[in-house]
Amino acid sequence: MSGLHPSLCDIYEEVARRNAGEKEFHQAVFEVLTSLGPVVDKHPEFADNAVIRRLCEPERQIIFRVPWLDDSGTVQINRGFRVEFNSALGPFKGGLRFHPSVYLGIVKFLGFEQIFKNSLTGLPIGGGKGGSDFDPKGRSDAEVMRFCQSFMTELYRHIGEYTDVPAGDIGVGTREIGYLFGQYKRITNRYESGVLTGKGLTWGGSQVRTEATGYGTVFFVDEILRAARDSFDGKRVVVSGSGNVAIYAIEKVHALGGIVVACSDSSGYVLDEKGIDIDVLKDVKEVQRGRISDYVEARAGAAQFVEGRSIWEVPCDIALPSATQNEVSGADAELLIKSGCRIVAEGANMPCTPEAVKLFAEAGVTFAPGKAANAGGVATSALEMQQNASRDSWTFEDTEQRLAEIMGRIHDSCLTIADEYGQPGNYMAGANIAGFIRVADAMLALGLV
Ligand code: NDP
Repeated sequence: MSGLHPSLCDIYEEVARRNAGEKEFHQAVFEVLTSLGPVVDKHPEFADNAVIRRLCEPERQIIFRVPWLDDSGTVQINRGFRVEFNSALGPFKGGLRFHPSVYLGIVKFLGFEQIFKNSLTGLPIGGGKGGSDFDPKGRSDAEVMRFCQSFMTELYRHIGEYTDVPAGDIGVGTREIGYLFGQYKRITNRYESGVLTGKGLTWGGSQVRTEATGYGTVFFVDEILRAARDSFDGKRVVVSGSGNVAIYAIEKVHALGGIVVACSDSSGYVLDEKGIDIDVLKDVKEVQRGRISDYVEARAGAAQFVEGRSIWEVPCDIALPSATQNEVSGADAELLIKSGCRIVAEGANMPCTPEAVKLFAEAGVTFAPGKAANAGGVATSALEMQQNASRDSWTFEDTEQRLAEIMGRIHDSCLTIADEYGQPGNYMAGANIAGFIRVADAMLALGLV
């Protein structure tokens, strides 16, 4: 199998056979396995103890029915998922995604990625992920609340601050976490703050959690630039998406002197050559819950909406794909390379297709994979858990400083490990290997469980 160490081919084939049709999960596993050849050569104990095969099989998978009543009184049925993938380093930890495209293969890909990402943070958190095929778009507040309450009515028995700690992801922000936490509290009669992260600031949330994934991605790129004795100053940046990750990535790029000229949603992108106006964007997306096309109206002629086209046709120095998986195709990568893009850092999970990643490598474009570049979100969730456990709350500045330090450490450990395994400057290999080794060592120490 092209690109895989011979001893890993069987593992990949077993994953593909046992998880038929789950193509995103196959892709995520393949991508990690491509980096592990030198590791299995150096550490035969991992193969002897079937560590990689065990890592590819979730510890527990839960699928459940979520019935709820819409505003017209009609019964709606969705499917809920929680995949508890690996708890060698700590309680399962990872977000919930509410989007119509969610099925078991998406949840498994995200949960698998989460194991390595959480390991890279150096914090005591295992990997998991969950969600539902519920589509919050166009639903009233009351419908979202009833859905969340029904979802938690099943999920509550599987989670807990020492067991499994969900958070947000696509379609799940502070509003949804609030409804989920409220229902958990009601059912269990416990104010167990550490059971969910991404909470509001007045009820157990952490400063900087909302900003963390976007800020963290930009801190990571700042480290890449610094390592090349460069900076964000005057850099032209394109950020896809206009949700939680994208908004705060844009905010931080501007704070560091770059200019974000385009962002998007699933209907198209907006081009604003003077730089995306972050206050207008927040108002449109966070307050009004509108579409990205509404941004143009609010900017009164300063920006342009381009419907149904790829945002990657906009020339840039730095690209931050921050919407969803596989949003950067091989053709998109060619556009980016042609326009002179030098750095691609994944704010989203697996937004770049394998073809795109290969083209970036061939063209010498620095590529930072999501499991490293977007780890700031989950790292700050772990900081939220620390504050909850000690009944404490830290200031914005203190928490942001800790986030910046964590991103710096992740950056350095990717580079150090990539070097050690003979692939200098390869952030993907560094992230996969560094993430793998910490969790694999813990699995060995814990015995055959
Ligand atoms: P949000 O729901 O806040 O925003 C998602 C954005 O992506 C929206 O603008 C949405 O547009 C767009 N989008 C979603 N699906 C598609 C699609 N098929 N095509 C084009 N655009 C799409 O989610 P987040 O910002 O939280 O998450 C974005 C990515 O970042 C995901 O991959 C997530 O897994 C990852 N991530 C998030 C973390 C977090 O802390 N929130 C942590 C680490 C990673 P539309 O409204 O049109 O659907």
